[in-house]
Amino acid sequence: ERKAALAASTGPGATSDGHKVPLLANIGGPADVPAAVEAGAEGVGLFRTEFLFLDDSENAPSEEKQVAAYRQVLEAFPEGRVVVRVLDAGADKPLDFLTPGDEPNPALGVRGLRTLLDHPDVLRTQLTALAKAAEGLPVYLEVMAPMVADRADAKAFADACREAGLRAKFGAMVEIPSAALRARSVLQEVEFLSLGTNDLAQYTFAADRQVGAVSRLQDPWQPALLDLVALSAEAAKAEGKSCGVCGEAASDPLLACVLTGLGVTSLSMGAASLPYVRATLAKFTLAQCERAAAAARAADSAEEARNAAQAVLSGE
Ligand code: PEP
Ligand code: MG
Repeated sequence: ERKAALAASTGPGATSDGHKVPLLANIGGPADVPAAVEAGAEGVGLFRTEFLFLDDSENAPSEEKQVAAYRQVLEAFPEGRVVVRVLDAGADKPLDFLTPGDEPNPALGVRGLRTLLDHPDVLRTQLTALAKAAEGLPVYLEVMAPMVADRADAKAFADACREAGLRAKFGAMVEIPSAALRARSVLQEVEFLSLGTNDLAQYTFAADRQVGAVSRLQDPWQPALLDLVALSAEAAKAEGKSCGVCGEAASDPLLACVLTGLGVTSLSMGAASLPYVRATLAKFTLAQCERAAAAARAADSAEEARNAAQAVLSGE
């Protein structure tokens, strides 16, 4: 039965009553593109660009090298959406030449957008490379910054994008609770939000994502995390803008339905998860997803939230 459901799982993501939820792929570079296309991804929802920076421990990759890599990805999704995240260095992704080595708490230190604002040349080269890579292509390029804390961060990023002559939508990742709590304010500066639920869980629960002993608190079913997702999605709706999810949460088929019910407008995940999420979403109406979301938010633990959503969606 599972096989049949997956075989039938093609085409754009949608609930059974036709509410569209674009299903996008998370990729780390051009090498991940074939699997994403094969799985029917409607585009890329998170292009982690860190891989480009791993070859040389002392310098950023040249503009030419970046243009070539970005172009390869953009060309694979004609008429599709490609959301590129600018370099997210620091904490769990340290880079020798950019990341301060003497921080007591690197996850709370200079990482993500903070690193780029300290190294405007690195950001400028990356944005210029993206502008050049997209030239003449019919793709819908969107560029987002990791670790946006507030409106000032969002403005600094949008300003840098404009200065680089980038013709794309600029967005902010919501990975820090302050950005979710004040999403409307962040949205005054950018055109979309993308929830990075891995880091959002880490910062909401003060639980290091690399420490197994606190993994209970990294569970994306935690109702507190669902509340922050809902706040972000509601703010985006009020501003007439989009709010996707690109963290691990989107790859859990049941949770994908709950996220849809919370008002999330697209889901991005590893290619392997796309058929499962597509097939599960297609079984339920938007109203069912909304009821499952409400039940999950009413719970007091991740386990209760999962069970409550399951009960709603299995008609118990
Ligand atoms: C996240 O934090 O959820 C995310 C998508 O970014 P990364 O896992 O690369 O930090
Ligand atoms: Mg992150």
